[in-house]
Amino acid sequence: MIHLDGKATSLEIQNEISEAVQERVRRGIRAPHLAAILVGNNAASEVYVGHKIKACERVGFSSTMVRLDENIRQEQLLEEISALNESEDIDGFIVQLPLPSHLNELEVIEAIRPEKDVDGFHPINAGKMMLGLPGFAPATPAGIMELIRRWGIETKGKHAVVVGRSHIVGTPISVMLSRPGIDASVTLCHSRTADLASITRQADILVVAVGRAEMISPDMIKKGAVVIDVGMNSIPDESRKSGRRLVGDVSRSAQDVAGALTPVPGGVGPMTIAALLLNTLKAAN
Ligand code: NDP
Repeated sequence: MIHLDGKATSLEIQNEISEAVQERVRRGIRAPHLAAILVGNNAASEVYVGHKIKACERVGFSSTMVRLDENIRQEQLLEEISALNESEDIDGFIVQLPLPSHLNELEVIEAIRPEKDVDGFHPINAGKMMLGLPGFAPATPAGIMELIRRWGIETKGKHAVVVGRSHIVGTPISVMLSRPGIDASVTLCHSRTADLASITRQADILVVAVGRAEMISPDMIKKGAVVIDVGMNSIPDESRKSGRRLVGDVSRSAQDVAGALTPVPGGVGPMTIAALLLNTLKAAN
């Protein structure tokens, strides 16, 4: 079984980005600059944004963290976005989701200038991604595609099954896998799919982005399949000091059946960060 080490691949990409940054600086061009807006005190969001800022430091990007109060009004948040849109110093920025429930997420995403939308969530970028036009692809599916490419996973003519149809993971990865040149035949499953196991068992490539701890059991996986586990679920674990542990959407026993499997943590998570950095470099260039 191949352990698809996203952490190692992400570090390899970060080294390449770091060289590109040094080359820019040698040519007298400033380092790319990423900003992240974090609203409120969601513990998971704090961790995710922290990882992104640390990765910026590693590759030599400038980074700015904009912390905003949990109770910020929609208009105030839109003003902050407008300031980042206008700033000549900021190449790209993200608004960490989810936002507190009183805020209108779609309106916030639509307020980001598409040329600075390095998360690739703006409808213009989503549309470009659908049409295969240059733009910013959402970081998690883009990171998965990069992992597939760098590990030499054959996709042509393979049956890829994607479980989960969110706008940020499931739907875009199903489009990317079916694109000419990648050439997988894709089945997209969701909570209303009948007899999910009978479909996942047909998958040569299985991508799971559901958000339910270890819901894909080994009997749902075809022998030798490539399994990409996007899920990040925090579950109680008394043996840990924190009392919690991070697990994916796929049971760890999947390694007895799968031909290749991404670990959680250390699989798709670091690849998402690599893809975000690549988008930011592209925005700066
Ligand atoms: P969403 O909650 O937006 O979407 C979940 C999807 O799973 C929905 O399409 C839902 O179907 C489907 N689903 C729910 N229950 C079932 C079921 N029993 N059988 C089949 N499908 C089901 O989640 P996200 O896509 O945002 O995230 C998914 C997971 O990936 C989460 O654990 C999240 O933390 C993680 N994640 C990890 C990232 C990383 O960098 N590693 C980045 C982003 C997310 P329906 O549409 O019918 O409701």
